[in-house]
Amino acid sequence: MGYADGSATGRAEASTSTPDGLRVAVVGAGIGGLSAALSLLRAGFDVRVFEQAPTLAEIGAGVQVSPNASRILHRLGLADELARTGVRPVALHQRRWADGRTLLRAPLGTPLEQTFGYPYYQMHRADLLGALARALPADRLHLGRRFTGLTDHGQVVTASFADGTRVKCDVLVGADGIHSTVRRELFGAEAARFTGCVAYRGLVPAHRLRHLDLDVSGQVWMGPGRHFVHYFVSGRRLVNFVGVVERDAWTRESWTDRGDLAEALAAYPDWHPQVREILASVDETYVWALFDRPPLPRWSAGRVTLLGDACHPMLPFLAQGAAQAIEDGAALTSCLVEAGPDPAAALVRYERVRLPRTSRMQALSAENKIRFHLPDGPEQRERDARMASGGTDWSFGAIAWIYRHDAAIVDGRPAAPSALDRT
Ligand SMILES: Cc1cc2nc3c(=O)[nH]c(=O)nc-3n(C[C@H](O)[C@H](O)[C@H](O)COP(=O)(O)OP(=O)(O)OC[C@H]3O[C@@H](n4cnc5c(N)ncnc54)[C@H](O)[C@@H]3O)c2cc1C
Repeated sequence: MGYADGSATGRAEASTSTPDGLRVAVVGAGIGGLSAALSLLRAGFDVRVFEQAPTLAEIGAGVQVSPNASRILHRLGLADELARTGVRPVALHQRRWADGRTLLRAPLGTPLEQTFGYPYYQMHRADLLGALARALPADRLHLGRRFTGLTDHGQVVTASFADGTRVKCDVLVGADGIHSTVRRELFGAEAARFTGCVAYRGLVPAHRLRHLDLDVSGQVWMGPGRHFVHYFVSGRRLVNFVGVVERDAWTRESWTDRGDLAEALAAYPDWHPQVREILASVDETYVWALFDRPPLPRWSAGRVTLLGDACHPMLPFLAQGAAQAIEDGAALTSCLVEAGPDPAAALVRYERVRLPRTSRMQALSAENKIRFHLPDGPEQRERDARMASGGTDWSFGAIAWIYRHDAAIVDGRPAAPSALDRT
């Protein structure tokens, strides 16, 4: 059994012979669920995705896709779509909040692509989600289906939905995000924890910012108790920004809400004019409370498992949340392909290979909150000096463990060699 071929932008085709006839139900059609479904489908599994929303939509915001994720997306046939809508930044530029001084400028672009074999993209989330959704045959995606519960019968799992329908499957994958119902069903209810940060997010038409002469880099501005990130998306037609501000508590009911523009601007008083001008140019902003969870000791029980934010939500300060969700789908596919008739063993192996890596990403993302948000003073000066002298190692050697990783290779061998390095 091999991976079915798909054209670069076309739909993935289901193979007629499924590995052991295995039916896989994926709950959630976010970036994680759709990537996993495409990967599983190309491996020949009988995949169905169940999404609670009546239509697929993403908020107006950006997402960075590093080479560890783009290598998987290219294999899924999305190279042309990513090249068309994604932006390839030339550098990551970390700067000081008030005077704009460069603390560190690390190359991305061609040198990174030559080193790791795949591009770094900065994208509109809707462009990425749309590319994934278009690649999935329409009859594989079931919208308006809110998962409510499951029964694991040992050899078969029954999933229940709010509309009263039930679906029998051989493996159930919860890709239903940070407030995962599948996770609750497996391990009990536990509220996500507020990280003490809220994010203002928005998009500005690039022509409004022409006078700033922004270069095509990801810029991270660091200041006391907050930071600000911006980069181009959608073929450079839009500038995406994320402004992260520390807060004592999150009192609104919704965890994502339309934000107040004046409030966003007021959160960055005395910051460099470039930051304030970007904020002043936006028509609407969303404010997004940032939650996470500590690493789970387990992701799987029997024939049910989790992926993406459902099992390893993290602060977005390493830009690896979606990338790790995409990696999960590739690793899960490899484990299921190799397992043959024992999917439960495959799920145990999947969590064993993935958990240490995603836990490390969760920890590093949290550490970046401290590094980015140091108050003015000796510690901040020491950080700045260390970054300026190259003491903060952002070299390709230092980040290779993130960017070079090929999640489809499990325990040192690819489960489905035909799927590797085909772009
Ligand atoms: C400010 C910010 C910036 C970020 N920037 C980056 C970045 O640059 N790079 C990066 O890699 N990551 C980034 N991330 C993280 C990234 O957005 C998430 O990690 C990623 O979207 C998780 O994908 P997911 O598919 O696991 O979950 P989600 O995107 O949350 O998708 C879950 C899906 O499941 C559906 N669902 C939920 N419950 C049910 C149910 N009961 N039944 C059926 N369907 C259900 C939801 O409707 C949704 O469609 C950022 C996050 C934030 C907040």
